[in-house]
Amino acid sequence: MDAHTDTAALFDLALIRKYDKAGPRYTSYPTAPMFHEGIGAADYAASLARVGAAAAPLSLYLHVPFCDTVCYYCGCSKIATKQRHRAVPYVEYLLKEIDLLADTLGGSRPVTQLHWGGGTPTFLNECQIRAIMDRLHSRFAFVPDAEGEYGIEIDPRECNANTVRVLREVGFNRMSMGVQDFEPKVQKAVNRIQSKEETLAVLEEARKHGFQSINIDLMYGLPFQTVESFDRTLGTIIDFSPDRIALFNYAHLPHMFMPQRRIDEGDLPSAAEKLKILEHSIDKLLAAGYVFIGMDHFAKPDDELAVAQRQGKLYRNFQGYSTHADAELVGLGITSIGYVDGTFYQNIKDLDGYYAALDAGEFPVFRGYRLSDEDHLRRHVIMRLMCDFALDYKSVDKQFGIDFTAHFADGLADLAGMAEDGLVQLRDDGLTVLPAGRMLIRNIAMVFDEHLRQKAEEGKFSKVI
Ligand code: SF4
Repeated sequence: MDAHTDTAALFDLALIRKYDKAGPRYTSYPTAPMFHEGIGAADYAASLARVGAAAAPLSLYLHVPFCDTVCYYCGCSKIATKQRHRAVPYVEYLLKEIDLLADTLGGSRPVTQLHWGGGTPTFLNECQIRAIMDRLHSRFAFVPDAEGEYGIEIDPRECNANTVRVLREVGFNRMSMGVQDFEPKVQKAVNRIQSKEETLAVLEEARKHGFQSINIDLMYGLPFQTVESFDRTLGTIIDFSPDRIALFNYAHLPHMFMPQRRIDEGDLPSAAEKLKILEHSIDKLLAAGYVFIGMDHFAKPDDELAVAQRQGKLYRNFQGYSTHADAELVGLGITSIGYVDGTFYQNIKDLDGYYAALDAGEFPVFRGYRLSDEDHLRRHVIMRLMCDFALDYKSVDKQFGIDFTAHFADGLADLAGMAEDGLVQLRDDGLTVLPAGRMLIRNIAMVFDEHLRQKAEEGKFSKVI
């Protein structure tokens, strides 16, 4: 996206209202509801053995599920507990899983990307963090610091200056921090009390230790938020000037996420106020020089995400946007999802099951999905749309041996209405997503989602804005 696209072009209220319907976020295609238990541990072991000798780099994801307290807006997979000792066996089993993985895969493939997510990764103490990183480094060939993206999600309530120093020392060089909102009233209503001072102190420390591409997560649509109140949070964050800002929409789905039942619906901003908050936030972020990357993400023009997007080298995976080529992704820890050998694999979601599988010497995988040729094609199309805001039919034809316009005749017919509304520009040889369509990129991608066409997925996904 060019840095000069303004809010008026990006944020068309009438169109946002018109296209406001449930849809997936496409961190994977096909999406997780398609995963099934016909694929399991033995398939995973076979896949790993098959791809072990490949030269392409690997991306590792490690999940730490524990959180000291629960944030009421949370829709993540986590275990809320004050019992720190619960992390002890978890770390032991993570080490076992790392060994099993390295034994099966062999250690020859370079690792260019590592991401620790949660839950709260820094729920683990310094010794536990060191033990895991030592084991990873002893079993895998990580590329040097300057070439690798080694990131961790940080909760400033579980992190101090010393933690930041240790994280850098053990090899992390990227950091993502959850903030959401600094207003005390909002924080109280969502049970996440984190002062501006402690947050900024951790961020300053991260900068001092050379963390790059520092990302901050914000959330709009939380209880008691107004345009004015959220403007204060945005102002503080913009003053700190992080490389990236993710601005997530709070989707109130209490029937799906238990903690959300503690949020009083009457305290939530109205749909109209929420859209005003979004519009104002976009305005403020663009005015501060941030570029809209897509799907809630903003970055400084010189950040590697923005640079990769300009070069057509942006990718999308379970952690959101990524600059690393469509690397194979290996998941570690409960609930984690990997993509190996053209197949998605997901780990068991409960601790007991996870421990039992590893005790039996098996991978703790319980379901997955093997992509068909058609899935690979559609995955590519959706990925390029989400990352480039454009499609070149000829290059897809060449890569997949199809005739795009004939193959996607249904989808292109659906897009005709969106073209009339000014969301996309359709040409004989390709399409371009216009500024007004960028906020609605999910809707455009959904046109190419074959499984969505087949199944009535309505209600399973959060609204697009
Ligand atoms: S939002 Fe993050 S810190 Fe809060 S409960 Fe969920 S996983 Fe834990």
